[in-house]
Amino acid sequence: MGPGWKRPKNEKGLRGLFQEFLKTIGFSAFADRRPAGFMVPLGNYIPSPAHEGTVLIGDAGGFAGPILGEGIFYAHRTAELAAHAVERHLTCAAPLAETYTTLLRHRLIPELRAERVLRDFVYGCLDARMQVPLAAFMRATNTRVIDAVQGSRSFRGFWRDNDLHSAVW
Ligand SMILES: Cc1cc2nc3c(=O)[nH]c(=O)nc-3n(C[C@H](O)[C@H](O)[C@H](O)COP(=O)(O)OP(=O)(O)OC[C@H]3O[C@@H](n4cnc5c(N)ncnc54)[C@H](O)[C@@H]3O)c2cc1C
Repeated sequence: MGPGWKRPKNEKGLRGLFQEFLKTIGFSAFADRRPAGFMVPLGNYIPSPAHEGTVLIGDAGGFAGPILGEGIFYAHRTAELAAHAVERHLTCAAPLAETYTTLLRHRLIPELRAERVLRDFVYGCLDARMQVPLAAFMRATNTRVIDAVQGSRSFRGFWRDNDLHSAVW
């Protein structure tokens, strides 16, 4: 970018650009629809996202990492747990909603809860500009927090567990 470069003005706005995008991909019929959106959940999951023959997975159940809002892993993992619950339901007549919520309670929610505690500490320090205790905590835990965010350690005590995100029963 040379010295005369100016940031192009976004005169159409986000909605105008979205309408243009819809037309480009052949969806002109939808261009006048009012777009709707929602916030990415940051740890405020639904504890029992199932009822009778319906289960909610991913964002629909509020599953995303409380610290960074990463939801791709949770979308896959809840889908995997839901698939196991469906399989149990079809092969052994296990109740679908109960099986799914039990799996979530054992395999996902404890981690989300522990991550939420850590998030409150980290964000609380950032909000209060308390870099010193935060920096001391990060030094003391070495790479453990990063390992936990990357999924190779548990948020509960930062122990290593290779099955943490793959075990089902
Ligand atoms: C800007 C942004 C950046 C992000 N970055 C990251 C990131 O770097 N890493 C990460 O892990 N996560 C990230 N996320 C979060 C992540 O994208 C979501 O958590 C994840 O995609 C959730 O997957 P999902 O399958 O639950 O929902 P979605 O991926 O939203 O899939 C739902 C699908 O259902 C379709 N749909 C909706 N209503 C209907 C209907 N009535 N009929 C038929 N289809 C319908 C939608 O079009 C959509 O394709 C980001 C999110 C946003 C918004």
